[in-house]
Amino acid sequence: MIIHLPNTITSAEAHAIAEQLEALYIAKAEYHVLVTSHTVHTLPLEVAHLAIQAWDMPTDMQLSSRAYMAQTHRVAIGDKYIGGDGKNQLMIAGPCAIESREQIEQSCQMLKSMGIGVLRAGCYKPRTSPYTFRGMGEDGLKLLAEMRDKHGVLIATEMRDATHADKVIEYADIVQVGAKAMYDHGLLTAAGQCGKPVILKRGFSSTLQELVHAADFVMSCGNNQVILCERGIRSFENQTRFTLDLCGVSWLKEHCNLPIILDPSHAMGYAYGVADLARACTAMGIDGLLIETHPNPAQAKSDAAQQLGHEQFIAMYKSLETVAKAVDKTLI
Ligand code: PEP
Ligand code: MN
Repeated sequence: MIIHLPNTITSAEAHAIAEQLEALYIAKAEYHVLVTSHTVHTLPLEVAHLAIQAWDMPTDMQLSSRAYMAQTHRVAIGDKYIGGDGKNQLMIAGPCAIESREQIEQSCQMLKSMGIGVLRAGCYKPRTSPYTFRGMGEDGLKLLAEMRDKHGVLIATEMRDATHADKVIEYADIVQVGAKAMYDHGLLTAAGQCGKPVILKRGFSSTLQELVHAADFVMSCGNNQVILCERGIRSFENQTRFTLDLCGVSWLKEHCNLPIILDPSHAMGYAYGVADLARACTAMGIDGLLIETHPNPAQAKSDAAQQLGHEQFIAMYKSLETVAKAVDKTLI
């Protein structure tokens, strides 16, 4: 159950009530929020006289549920936004990893030429093998900040673990929690306290419920600027890298009050499928796409097979326009 208490009581008082009810407490400017177990179905006596409003939640998906807040949360992306009235579809693009000033400068210039304002690139790469490129670390963050200062782009980059979470939060405009880190409650808490938009990627073996629970962890720390990202799940099929769960996206659109972006690059694993998938995703009326593109994919130090060359990316991006229009979305 989610209960709103008026701000005529102090946060210390609200906190004390939360403890009594074994509820989670979130401070908001307009009211206090208590979240009890979803198994509580009647308003507890302790708050019956106080509550402004209460929601009997049908499942343990609570803060991120449309049963609580029907409208999709609006997440600010610089002076633009996604979610809210749902009119915009955001493009977040760039290489898998930042590799050099020259590489990221070329990526940035290409995006700027297409009017795209969010540059993505990893500095701390979560790799499966220890013998592969793990990213430039803080030097990469500094180069990304240089691109922001020079070109006015926003930076989306990933925190892989606690060793550098504060650094990523300091440099990034949009903080990404990757698929392999979706269950890391330390990172989810840091994301919940960072005050910035958070891209939360679905673990490739995670159910939708586990994804929304991870989102609830972030939101329970007071940050509602959460963007869910479907990036493909592991299935029996191994001709493609993962299987993009479009049914899951429909489920999330129906039940969850957070904007949803899709990452066809990691799902497909091969550049040849990415443009088709990007159009298919756009036709679903989503809030954004995350696409990997590299000035010279063959030379990429990570995820070489799936990154689009710049010409391929530009052709793909242009082709999204008509599809977006058909579902009443503006590309931003
Ligand atoms: C990425 O976006 O570069 C990435 C590592 O993705 P994922 O966490 O989905 O594997
Ligand atoms: Mn990648």
